[in-house]
Amino acid sequence: MSVNVIAVDGPAASGKSTLARNLADRLGILYVNTGSLYRAVALKALRLGIKTKDTAALSAMLQQTSLRYAKDADGKLDIELDGTFPGQALRSAEVAKGASDVATVPEVRAWTLEIQRDTAKENTIVMEGRDIGTVVFPDAKYKFFLSASPLARAKRRLAQEGETLNGATLESVAAEIAARDKQDSERAVAPLKQAEDAIAVDNSDWTIEQTLDYICDQIKTIDANA
Ligand code: C5P
Repeated sequence: MSVNVIAVDGPAASGKSTLARNLADRLGILYVNTGSLYRAVALKALRLGIKTKDTAALSAMLQQTSLRYAKDADGKLDIELDGTFPGQALRSAEVAKGASDVATVPEVRAWTLEIQRDTAKENTIVMEGRDIGTVVFPDAKYKFFLSASPLARAKRRLAQEGETLNGATLESVAAEIAARDKQDSERAVAPLKQAEDAIAVDNSDWTIEQTLDYICDQIKTIDANA
């Protein structure tokens, strides 16, 4: 089912997106950001005034929602919500918090699981998320679990324009990340955790290039031992 997939999991702001995007570019394959699915569900709920933990209202909303990965103008896979690309609207701190809420709802996860598996049927991909190596593609041949120190993660998030609230400080961003980690790790369905057979990569003190080189070396080693 999943030899087409390189799974990259890890907590918020651990460097997953940067690594996964660069890895896909280097290998000439497509990049899929699964956080966008939960962010898109949260965005639509917030726009409709639906509470992001209201299971019944969210389930009803999903019946009227079309969500898929489609190629954008650059040929990259991007999330398309009800026929349009929400793009930067997904990146706000409010939507990030809402995404962590909707991601605790089993009905939402069952729905997004199908979309993720369908996407891999048609493409060779680097897929980034929280449960790719544990739930979505437990038999993926390549699995990585990225982490970084709380300080390194807070600094990275603060440097990402538009992703923090006005007036955010290193402390407030660190607290927001810690709250999201807690909710993501403690939820009953598909919690954030390292797959037993994933390679753990702490990139706190590494550059983007060093992390990418390390992962590429690991992929070569896996291929050599196959
Ligand atoms: O990675 P990103 O910050 O975009 O993810 C937003 C939220 O979506 C996460 O905090 C998490 O709750 C949820 N998520 C998830 N499973 C995934 C990807 C993201 O539960 N595979």
